[in-house]
Amino acid sequence: MRRRTFLKKITGCSLAVMAGGLALPNRAKCEVVKPFAEIICNNYLDEIIRKRIIEIKKQNPFLSLGDLHCHSYFSDGSYSVNSLMRRAASLGLDFLVITEHLTPQRYNYECCVESIIAQRNTYANWNYKDLNPPAIYPALEISTRDGHLIAVFPEEYFEPKHLREIKQYFKHFYYYEAPVETVAKLIRKMNGVSIIAHPNIVRSHPFGISLDYAKKNLTELVDAIEDMSTGHGYQRDYSKETGLASIGSSDDHLNILMGTSVTQFDRSEEKNLIQAIRSKTTKAVQITDLLSSLFTPTNLFFSV
Ligand SMILES: [Zn+2]
Ligand SMILES: [Zn+2]
Repeated sequence: MRRRTFLKKITGCSLAVMAGGLALPNRAKCEVVKPFAEIICNNYLDEIIRKRIIEIKKQNPFLSLGDLHCHSYFSDGSYSVNSLMRRAASLGLDFLVITEHLTPQRYNYECCVESIIAQRNTYANWNYKDLNPPAIYPALEISTRDGHLIAVFPEEYFEPKHLREIKQYFKHFYYYEAPVETVAKLIRKMNGVSIIAHPNIVRSHPFGISLDYAKKNLTELVDAIEDMSTGHGYQRDYSKETGLASIGSSDDHLNILMGTSVTQFDRSEEKNLIQAIRSKTTKAVQITDLLSSLFTPTNLFFSV
């Protein structure tokens, strides 16, 4: 391993261990890491992401780029919805999908619905005059018996009557982990699209759905799969192996890695992200991995 890479990995691990070693709840530990993250983002990372996005759009101005997987403090993230949306706008992202957890005994449907309402209000009362707000989509990340599955819904799910549907259909999942097939069918019935999050990543509880399982059982039921995740430190061709739509995202919990891996689609061909996922024309794009070895271990430490 090159000396620079080694030093970055050591620094990242040290940051996680340093914060982790404190006898504090996770939320308080995040507060320890925040000042370091903000210094690095403000002085270094954001400018790199911004420039790269401008370069990509110069080649094709119809491309729409955004992050499809991140968390605010309505679940296990450390920042507000407002901060996440403002940073997405300042990076030049066209859309942002905030995916709060729906996890048995930890995060119920209310965490997700409150986040969706906060996103809607932030968008409606946007007060950063020199920035365009990113397009937003109602979404959540459900802990199924087989691993995490992201649901993204059309914009009408911001309306109260559809939010009541989310409550009606998802409230049970606070009490048990349903099979992924059951959840995927429900998402489709609600006119949403589903994405397999961080496949093959193993933890002591169901986390990344196994690729073999997905190939055998899910190719007709789910819509997309994360080919690239800066938050989990991998880049693969899972979409080619499964025939699903390709997604790139950060799974950012600390408002650091947002925009480092993104999903793109062509606005001249697809009217919105949901349509692009359904027609499997999305593409995972790496914007930068310069600091991922520094912050990936820290990000993972704080995630459910
Ligand atoms: Zn997850
Ligand atoms: Zn996540």
